[in-house]
Formats: sequence, C-alpha cells, structure tokens
Amino acid sequence: MTIKVKNLLAQDVTCSNCKACCCSLEVMIISDTGVPSKYIYVDEHGSETMLRLDDGWCSALDRNTLMCSIYENRPWVCREFEMGSFECINERTIKL
Ligand code: SF4
Ligand code: SF4
Repeated sequence: MTIKVKNLLAQDVTCSNCKACCCSLEVMIISDTGVPSKYIYVDEHGSETMLRLDDGWCSALDRNTLMCSIYENRPWVCREFEMGSFECINERTIKL
C-alpha cells in the first residue's frame, strides 16, 4: 500500500486553489440557516442533509466557479469547517 504524503505550507492552503474538496462531504443540517428546500435531502427518519448529486458534490455548489451558491445561507457545519484545519488538509490530501 502506498500512502500519499504532501507537505503543504499553511499559506498554500486556500479555497481558491482547491476543488471544493469539502463540498462532497456529508453535511448535516442541524439548524435553520435558510437553505432552500431544493438543496435538502430528507431521509426516512426525517434527518436533513445537503443533497448531493451524482458527481458527489453538494447540489448547492456552483459547478462552474466551484463556489457555494448559497453562501449567506450555508449550513452551520459549512460555516464551522475551517480552511487550513486538519479536516480541510485531510480532504485536500485525499482528493486533489
Ligand atoms: S475549506 Fe479547505 S477543503 Fe474546503 S474548499 Fe477550502 S481549502 Fe478546500
Ligand atoms: S452548502 Fe455550500 S459550502 Fe456547504 S457543502 Fe454545499 S456548496 Fe459547500
């Protein structure tokens, strides 16, 4: 098994050189921030997550710009996901 190793400098980690890696993660909706219902998937237990499309990305991601199209109304989980955090770097390491 080969483990990919990337040494990223903190200043090299920015959303502008990313391919929205974190926008293909499951995003639970746990508070009402005004996400339009067409972007929400409700499972059989009533739990709400951001709807993802066949390409794996969140349905609210603008595929042309790779920016969030509902930025002002994005879920709390997305607001808390910090650029440069361990989780961010982990997603970039796996997907870029
Ligand atoms: S927060 Fe991190 S993983 Fe998400 S788009 Fe920005 S750089 Fe990429
Ligand atoms: S709501 Fe916006 S920031 Fe959150 S996963 Fe979807 S596109 Fe990304």
